[in-house]
This record gives sequence, C-alpha cells and structure tokens, in this order.
Amino acid sequence: MAFKEVAEGLAEMRASVRRFVEDELPPWAQEVDKTGKFPAELMRLLASQGFLGMRLPEKYGGSDMSLAQYCLVQEELSRCHPMFTILMSGTGGLSPMAIAQYGTDAQKDKYLPPLTRGDTRIAFALTEPGAGSDASSISTRATATETGWSISGQKQFISHADSAEVIMVIAVTDPALRARGGISAFLVDKGTPGMEITRVETTMGSAAWTLSEITFDNCKIDKSALLDELGRGFQLASSALTEGRMSVACLCLGAAEKLLEIATAYAKDRRTFGAPLADRQAIQWMLADSATELAAARALVQQTLLDSEDESQIRIKASMCKLYCSEVAGRMADKAVQIHGANGVVRGYEVERFYRDLRLFRVGEGSSEMQRLVIARDLLRN
Ligand SMILES: Cc1cc2nc3c(=O)[nH]c(=O)nc-3n(C[C@H](O)[C@H](O)[C@H](O)COP(=O)(O)OP(=O)(O)OC[C@H]3O[C@@H](n4cnc5c(N)ncnc54)[C@H](O)[C@@H]3O)c2cc1C
Repeated sequence: MAFKEVAEGLAEMRASVRRFVEDELPPWAQEVDKTGKFPAELMRLLASQGFLGMRLPEKYGGSDMSLAQYCLVQEELSRCHPMFTILMSGTGGLSPMAIAQYGTDAQKDKYLPPLTRGDTRIAFALTEPGAGSDASSISTRATATETGWSISGQKQFISHADSAEVIMVIAVTDPALRARGGISAFLVDKGTPGMEITRVETTMGSAAWTLSEITFDNCKIDKSALLDELGRGFQLASSALTEGRMSVACLCLGAAEKLLEIATAYAKDRRTFGAPLADRQAIQWMLADSATELAAARALVQQTLLDSEDESQIRIKASMCKLYCSEVAGRMADKAVQIHGANGVVRGYEVERFYRDLRLFRVGEGSSEMQRLVIARDLLRN
C-alpha cells in the first residue's frame, strides 16, 4: 500500500481512538491512581475496543494490529494516562508476543485467549539484584530434572508480577554458554510451589505500577513450560525489547503532546503583571522549544515505523526512538510544571502526575545510557 493510503488509514484510526479515550477513560484514570488497581469493568471496556492483545493473532482473540497501529493506540491512550499503555503491554506486549511467535500450540491455546479477554496478565522477569543493565549476567538457574526443570534464584523490579497469573522467567540453563545459548525462557504459573512474590514496591509514579521481587526456591516446572528452543531466552528477550522500546517511545510522544497542549492553554489563561503568561518571551521559548522537539520526535518515530517490516533495520532506530522520546517527554514535563508555577507541583494536577510517571521511562525498558550504548556500538562497528 502507498504511504499516503497508510497515513490516511492511520489518521482515521487515530481520530476514532482519540474520541474513545477522551469520552471514556478520564474517570478510570483517576480511579486507577486512587486505588492502584485495574477493575474488571475497565478491562472489559478495553477488551471491547480490541485494545487487549493488540498485536496478537485474531485466532486467539487479538486484533492483529501492525506495529504502526499498535504504536498509535499506545500514543493516544498515553495522552490520558501512561498507565493504560503499561496495562496493555501485560496483555499484548513483549511476553504475549513472544508466546505468539515462539510458543507451542498448547502454550498459545492456554495463555493467549485469557490475555485478550482481560482475564489474566503476564509479567516478564529478567532483572535481578545483581543484573540490571547488564542483563546477561543473571544468575537465576534452571536445572534439568527428570520431568522438566527446577528454578532457583531471585528477580526484582518486575512490573505487575503481583497481579499477573503467569510469569515469563529468563534463567540460565548452561552457565558455560550464558548469553551465547545458555539462557532460556520459561512460563511459570502463579501458585507453582517454590515461586513466591517476596516484596511488592510502588514507584514515584502511579500507585498502579507495582514492582515485585520474586524468589524461586527449587521451583519445579514441567518440561512443557520451556518457551521456544533451549538456549534461545536471551535472543527472545532482546528481540521482544525492540517492540517494547517503540511502545515506550510512542507513549512518551502521546504524553508530551498532551503536556504541550495543557501548558499552552495554561499560559494563555494565567495572567501575571497584567498580561497572560503567553505574552512573555521566556514562556514562548519554552513552548517553541517543546513543539520543535516534539515534531522531531514524531518524525523519527514515523520514519522508524515505515521501516518496520524488517525488524533488523529498526533495532537501532528503536533505541534512538526510545532514548529521544523519553528524554523529550521528560523535558516537556519539566517545562509544563514550571509554566504552571505552584499549581504544577500540587498533588493531583495533571502535569504533576505526568512529570512523575514519565520519569520512570528513562530507566525502565533499557535506560537512556543503555540506548546510547546500543547506538554507539552500532556506529563504531560500521
Ligand atoms: C518502572 C520500571 C519497570 C520495570 N519493569 C521491569 C520488568 O517488568 N521486568 C524486568 O525484568 N525488569 C524491569 N525493570 C528493571 C529494569 O529493566 C532495570 O531497572 C534496568 O535494566 C536498569 O537496571 P538497574 O536498575 O539495576 O540499574 P543499573 O544497571 O545498576 O544501572 C544504574 C545506572 O547506571 C547506568 N549504567 C549502568 N551500566 C552502565 C554503563 N556501562 N555505562 C554507562 N552507564 C551505565 C544505568 O543506565 C543507570 O542509570 C523495570 C524498571 C523500572 C524502573
């Protein structure tokens, strides 16, 4: 299809998603922030729009969206609250996509339909106390038994593990090989003896974003719990992260766009020294710089999505998108708070909430430094 047709189709889709988000989601955003929970009614509402399992095949109840469509929805949801996009990723993001792409038929039948209905969620457990940015140095060990595997070790900072029904666990299966074929992925059901959530923490962002510590103590699983081939866990996690980075880039883009609208409206409305803030050059420059950065971020994302047929082409660009959009959104949030004066730092104001939520995205899903490392390595290799 020609680019113009693709762009027109996406513009139509954007308008209808935006209508739904603006009409239906604001009260839920407040509820999620207040209670830290995603009520079943909200999940059903999102499922009815096809927003759960967006990238998953229709056969399993998904919406079979292209990466560009998925990113568009993430952007629009994030204009209301970035938490909605994080919620979606537990039903159709990194781990569900890995099951759809590399799982056995039995794994797909068991896990995907409940995810797309909103009945269950899945968490992704890679990070450990001794292995964050340097993920290949994980030490959680899966040892072969007669019937399957026994897992021992500890994971931390795992998003929504406390409310997920299944955890995708990345563990070492061959210490001699490690990232070169000695790390594998497993699907472990909640309630399996030997797996326990040992701590749940909240962040500076929304109360709904929990990070859990999970302890594995001789946790025995059947051999059917292995996802993909033995030793493919690290590659599987790395390739899934490319989509995750695009998703974060787009949610930051949506939030930054919304913040610019809010800050512009406030600057026109608020008067100091007898004139609107918007008349002051200091404020105009903040808005102008933000609008310029936003346009540059959008152009980078659009160009990357155009190349998205070939994942090998977008791996480095996805890092650039994640790095740039999360940093632009951070700067935008900071300026929006400044323009709002004291109102910008009072709990409950929209800009204050965005400011706190957006800060997490420069660390999670690969920090800004790790994105720069990926980009620089590629540059220097060529
Ligand atoms: C909101 C949130 C959600 C998360 N969800 C999940 C999840 O669902 N599943 C999961 O497995 N993990 C998750 N994580 C963990 C996340 O992947 C790690 O926090 C991240 O990889 C960084 O690891 P670390 O916190 O141990 O920092 P460290 O690796 O200790 O790094 C500390 C700081 O040093 C920098 N740094 C590290 N090495 C270098 C270097 N070589 N050069 C320059 N700078 C460097 C880092 O960028 C960072 O700023 C989440 C984290 C956050 C914040």
